[in-house]
Amino acid sequence: IMLYANIGNSKDLAAVLQNDAGGIGLFRSEFIYLERDTFPTEEEQFQIYRTVAETMAGKPVIIRTLDIGADKKCDYFEMEPEENPAMGCRAIRICLTRPEIFKTQLRALFRASAFGNISIMYPMIISVLTEQGVTFGEPKQGIMIETPAAVMMSEELAKEVDFFSIGTNDLTQYTLAIDRQNPKLDAFYEPHHPAVLRMIQMVVENAHKAGIWAGICGELGADTSLTRRFLAMGVDELSMSPGSILPVRKIILETDVTKERENNNLC
Ligand code: PEP
Ligand code: MG
Repeated sequence: IMLYANIGNSKDLAAVLQNDAGGIGLFRSEFIYLERDTFPTEEEQFQIYRTVAETMAGKPVIIRTLDIGADKKCDYFEMEPEENPAMGCRAIRICLTRPEIFKTQLRALFRASAFGNISIMYPMIISVLTEQGVTFGEPKQGIMIETPAAVMMSEELAKEVDFFSIGTNDLTQYTLAIDRQNPKLDAFYEPHHPAVLRMIQMVVENAHKAGIWAGICGELGADTSLTRRFLAMGVDELSMSPGSILPVRKIILETDVTKERENNNLC
């Protein structure tokens, strides 16, 4: 099982190395946009992605294209106010409607991929997209599975991409219809809900059927009460904040996966 780190910034790299992550499973690239007052240029982004790729020295670096919207607001995007931003114009929906922003980021990513082991990951996917004039090159390309639609379409989606990474934070929100940002609902927000766990199982099975890998990069990936279960399900990768890597690795090393599979009565 691959044990990777989640980062939002190249400043997080020291913690990634210190905790001996096997790679970066989720680089939340929107933080590059959130830290600025204007759009980052292609060159600025290229330098950041290149630094991360070079620092990781050949280890995988999975960079998620910008996931602005909902909880991550950026004034200079000049988005119209929305009644329901969590279900509004966010992430890939902005990228597809404002291609000048998306293409700038993709150019930076494709250029930086010449300097390391970069993969590109697209957030908030709900269906198989038809071609939109985007050039495909060397980097592996995967998608986040964080909508119930993507789970239900995972058999078809798996044929189109190189990997899946399950975003359990949003997947829980959209599956249970509970706003992840509303602290009053914390008692009801239950990522261990059987509906969420069965979805993870389904995604992993559909990924393996198509010969691709499936990981988890939401908070659940670091939940040590579920690590054994994830191993039994066949989850291939867990990506988490650097500080969680060593405790999770300890559990993985102590687990007899065959025995866990026999006990895995999830579905
Ligand atoms: C998720 O939704 O689980 C995820 C990893 O993405 P974010 O938390 O950035 O929305
Ligand atoms: Mg998400």
